[in-house]
Amino acid sequence: MENCIFCKIANGEIPSATVYEDEAFRAIMDIAPANKGHVILLPKKHSANLFEAEDETLREALLVVKRVSNAMMKALHCDGLNVVQNNGEAAGQTVFHLHLHMIPRFKEDTVKVTWKQGSYAEGEAAALSEEIKKNL
Ligand code: AMP
Ligand code: ZN
Repeated sequence: MENCIFCKIANGEIPSATVYEDEAFRAIMDIAPANKGHVILLPKKHSANLFEAEDETLREALLVVKRVSNAMMKALHCDGLNVVQNNGEAAGQTVFHLHLHMIPRFKEDTVKVTWKQGSYAEGEAAALSEEIKKNL
């Protein structure tokens, strides 16, 4: 992808604060962190989002997330860590190259990765579940 900033960063054309790199991935410090120490994992191969990514990339990505997150927990002494991955503008995606956020969390921090809990009418969850199942 010619004009994709994450392709350029992931493949080393643009320098970045890299915390992890292998043949398929680069993990870098997010430029506008939710909390200090926020890391994003970029596959080197371009896909816009989760749906377009190759299965192998997705399988490996979670293992890299585990390794980097573990290192973050130790290095940053955080109390928890959110793994977040946005697909589409409506979901908050701003860079259309697949990436996974690793956000260190501290007791009493003010980061919001949360929502107001909703509810279902009688039978509504079951009906939606059927719709989803039909599309698997
Ligand atoms: P998303 O909203 O899930 O698409 O996340 C995009 C993330 O990329 C945001 O957290 C940005 O702060 C981060 N970001 C954008 N440009 C850069 C860059 N050049 N280097 C590092 N992080 C970036
Ligand atoms: Zn890209």
